[in-house]
Amino acid sequence: MSDTKRLETDVVVVGAGLAGLTAARELVRGGHDAIVLEARERVGGRTLNEAVGPAFEQVVELGGEWLAPTQHRALALAAELGLETFPTYSTGANLLERDGSIHRYSGTIPSLGLLPLAEVGIAMARLNRLARGIDTAAPWTARIAPRADEQTVASWIRRNVRTRVAREAMRIAVEAVWAADPADVSLLHALFYIRSGGSFERLLDTEGGAQQDRIVGGSQLLALGLAQQLGERVRLGAVAERIEHSAQLLDVIAADGLRVRARRVIVALPPTLAGRLRYEPALPAVRDGLTQRMAMGAVVKCMAIYDEPFWRADGLSGHATSLAGPAAIFYDNSPPGGSPGVLLAFLEGRAARATLRLSAAAREALVLDGIARLFGPRARTPQRYVEQAWSDEPFSGGGYAGYFPPGAWTDHGPALRAAIGPLHWAGTETATVWNGYMDGAIQSGQRAAREVADALG
Ligand SMILES: Cc1cc2nc3c(=O)[nH]c(=O)nc-3n(C[C@H](O)[C@H](O)[C@H](O)COP(=O)(O)OP(=O)(O)OC[C@H]3O[C@@H](n4cnc5c(N)ncnc54)[C@H](O)[C@@H]3O)c2cc1C
Repeated sequence: MSDTKRLETDVVVVGAGLAGLTAARELVRGGHDAIVLEARERVGGRTLNEAVGPAFEQVVELGGEWLAPTQHRALALAAELGLETFPTYSTGANLLERDGSIHRYSGTIPSLGLLPLAEVGIAMARLNRLARGIDTAAPWTARIAPRADEQTVASWIRRNVRTRVAREAMRIAVEAVWAADPADVSLLHALFYIRSGGSFERLLDTEGGAQQDRIVGGSQLLALGLAQQLGERVRLGAVAERIEHSAQLLDVIAADGLRVRARRVIVALPPTLAGRLRYEPALPAVRDGLTQRMAMGAVVKCMAIYDEPFWRADGLSGHATSLAGPAAIFYDNSPPGGSPGVLLAFLEGRAARATLRLSAAAREALVLDGIARLFGPRARTPQRYVEQAWSDEPFSGGGYAGYFPPGAWTDHGPALRAAIGPLHWAGTETATVWNGYMDGAIQSGQRAAREVADALG
């Protein structure tokens, strides 16, 4: 029997990820009442800590993790919550696996050979230049929008990059940023995203870029800290299913029968999942079309855990790129102090989709084989292996974030953030800075809370 419990509040927030929690906290701070409905039995959404070490006294992250120096909102929240950051380990040589052999290199772009390296540099500079013409609040208004939105990143690469190795490197860079195949992503979306983060290099870099810093104790502490401040306003295990709305009033109905009446709702879900809620009356076609078009990236975050980071003694940073795959990008993901030693491998885009069809054991064997080819036989036998397949998570639908295929931004873009009566939209996919990242999620929550506060007066 379903419980027909009824609650009333000023604002319902759907989703207790960083966006939803930020929005709720801003509203409560502004004197409004809010209730957050969260489907899972935990907060944090695409951020998730995992305990590691002999006494499980250390933490690694299975989802969002790193912070860039220009992610001011996420850094400010960490500071406010009294959290410390530490730099991603990057001392020593990086590794490149290419054509059956392993090469050492330094910096972000692997040692691909003179011509391919120059080609990659020029391609990234071109993309950065094109991205400068994009207003991240309205990418569809850019002069190049019609042309950029009718092609994929793959077709742009084919036309602008000649050598096989450089094309491969560009594919891996795109997959590392969007967890999607270049053939799936609109060029306009890629330019928008590059602009929202600053530059392509900034998205890829460790020092000075999106992989620079980590949070002591794990990034999920950001969401846990916000949830603690909200207390009982956050209701776990509440799967929102339906929103009945009129101009001034709405009801959000959860799977267990809980019905929350409010004046406004902030749907703080990836648009793909927002589109799976039932709206009564139905939403305008342009909004429905948008949620039909935004796809989630596909990523499996895999970690091999050892008693120590043995690769450091060999002068290796733990950062590696493999053109052989299926895991293509690797990092030293050890907690501060280096105990235990943790090597992180990403399966992204097509590699994620292909390996998700395998058994977990077969996927683990493939990942460990890749790690061992790079870091030697000792890497083949970790003490423990953990992974998180985000595409298998019904309340995420994939990761790192949503992206648009060709045609979506120009036809449906204005519906991404525009409120519809009392319905407002948050989530990192709606951010204009650091879209797709934790910082973007926070920005979106702040923006949605402002919108709602203005509407409530
Ligand atoms: C593997 C991985 C690595 C990443 N690495 C980084 C990184 O290093 N740095 C970085 O900044 N970002 C990273 N990201 C991205 C970052 O995690 C996200 O941008 C951010 O956490 C998104 O927050 P959000 O609040 O917008 O969405 P979410 O975190 O997805 O929050 C949505 C919430 O809604 C809930 N929900 C879903 N459906 C319903 C429903 N029907 N009813 C109620 N609740 C529902 C979900 O359970 C979830 O809690 C990574 C993501 C992944 C997956």
